[in-house]
Amino acid sequence: MHEMSLCQNIAELIEAAAQRERFLRVRTVTLEIGRLAAVEPGALEFCFDAAMRGGCAEGARLEIVATDGRAWCLGCSHEILISRPLDPCPRCGSGRVQVTGGTQMRIKELEVE
Ligand SMILES: [Zn+2]
Repeated sequence: MHEMSLCQNIAELIEAAAQRERFLRVRTVTLEIGRLAAVEPGALEFCFDAAMRGGCAEGARLEIVATDGRAWCLGCSHEILISRPLDPCPRCGSGRVQVTGGTQMRIKELEVE
């Protein structure tokens, strides 16, 4: 399950930020996840607590902000928003779309004390 390694990755980023910015505890972790990132938010929440155990974000609350998937339609030459990688263009119905954004996951905000 790759959500577990993503969570461990997040834990490492938080520890690095804690050393850099000198905070001890994290109260809330806000993650921004693109709708095309192939990350299952439920699975991520499931792994989060276990991955944060023993670190400064142990017991922290997880908030997930979903960002739209963006793509360029080759059929009508418009930028479009899609929620799944293989969605057709909502403007013209073409399946010839190139994904341009919304495939990333990043830490948007850490509420620390
Ligand atoms: Zn189109």
